[in-house]
Amino acid sequence: MRKEENRKLTVLDLPVGDIVEAGTAVTFHTGSWRSQRPVWDKDKCIHCLTCWISCPDSSIKIAPDEKKTTVVTGIDYDHCKGCGICASECPVKIRAITMEQEKK
Ligand code: SF4
Ligand code: SF4
Repeated sequence: MRKEENRKLTVLDLPVGDIVEAGTAVTFHTGSWRSQRPVWDKDKCIHCLTCWISCPDSSIKIAPDEKKTTVVTGIDYDHCKGCGICASECPVKIRAITMEQEKK
């Protein structure tokens, strides 16, 4: 790595008179931080999509089924950081997502 790349960035490095690009986790895996993982039970799931709406990392995977209804298809473990919001927001009588200890 060049010496120039190691220097500390300052406010002077920001573009002048420009809109800074929004941050995104698409290019790195937040899943590596996880200590617990959500486990989805497809047989219990009623596809209410509450977990999908609630996930702060867009890690609930959805897709249209054969009737063109949007359904949950799984969890993106590359980006899920294990916050547990999906599990706590899944309707109490259903509990189709449970949190389990991450196996490293
Ligand atoms: S909140 Fe629970 S029941 Fe609703 S779609 Fe998600 S996993 Fe399925
Ligand atoms: S544990 Fe958190 S980050 Fe992972 S799928 Fe659930 S809500 Fe999203």
